[in-house]
Amino acid sequence: MSTLEIRDLHVAVGDKEILRGVDLTVRSGETHAIMGPNGSGKSTLAYAIAGHPKYTITSGSVLLDGEDLLDMKVDERARAGLFLAMQYPVEVPGVTVSNFLRSAITAVRGEAPKLREFAKDLKNGMDALSIDPAFAQRNTNEGFSGGEKKRHEILQLELLKPKIAILDETDSGLDVDALRVVSEGINRFRGLDGSGEKIGSGADTGVLLITHYTRILRYVKPDFVHVFAGGRIVEEGGPELAEKLEDEGYEAYTKATA
Ligand code: ADP
Ligand code: MG
Ligand code: MG
Repeated sequence: MSTLEIRDLHVAVGDKEILRGVDLTVRSGETHAIMGPNGSGKSTLAYAIAGHPKYTITSGSVLLDGEDLLDMKVDERARAGLFLAMQYPVEVPGVTVSNFLRSAITAVRGEAPKLREFAKDLKNGMDALSIDPAFAQRNTNEGFSGGEKKRHEILQLELLKPKIAILDETDSGLDVDALRVVSEGINRFRGLDGSGEKIGSGADTGVLLITHYTRILRYVKPDFVHVFAGGRIVEEGGPELAEKLEDEGYEAYTKATA
């Protein structure tokens, strides 16, 4: 059982305040959707929690199981069980997917996985995500299509089994088929089916699913929906709030914060 606790978080880039007091608690087994218009600060929240140096925490706290995440280096946060799938994953020239993933597991666990076990997990993960076996020998994210990048993010999730996973716009730029494969990957990982019923064992991870669009929430059912506007949460509810947003859009919120 793990808990990510974000308390009155204020974050600036340079001298511009972007997050203006965010409060959010994510527990193991829960899926929270953060939805909001472009520029509302959703990625800023993800980067600030993950420890990107460009984002300055001006006040507030972020605790993972009571430990101060903001005091940890980026690699320590990963070892503590935090995972971030970035909106724009970076290329790692000269490092194959296979080596990248093995290094990531080694960094998180503090020891290298046994080769045979790693090869098996990698193959199972790639099969489940309908990824071509040749993919493992390509350079990480180099020339990947949007769909390949997102599948690779979910593959990392399945192999690293974090306590808390932040997925920033994992749905953006995906066609319907890729969206379904990626959503099924997230669900398999959560141990839930598309309507939120328990399947299999699941990793008991807390998931923070950041998205601009409601369509992924038809496949990955959230327990809670938070609407982000102007750098803070302006409304919260259950899955029905996503349906309301699908009908009405963000206009009401952007007007209120403009
Ligand atoms: P969202 O993910 O909701 O679209 P972002 O967190 O990317 O929003 O951006 C929120 C605001 O912060 C925007 O006005 C954006 O221009 C600004 N911002 C975010 N990151 C940076 C950065 N690294 N440098 C300068 N401005 C930034
Ligand atoms: Mg405040
Ligand atoms: Mg963003």
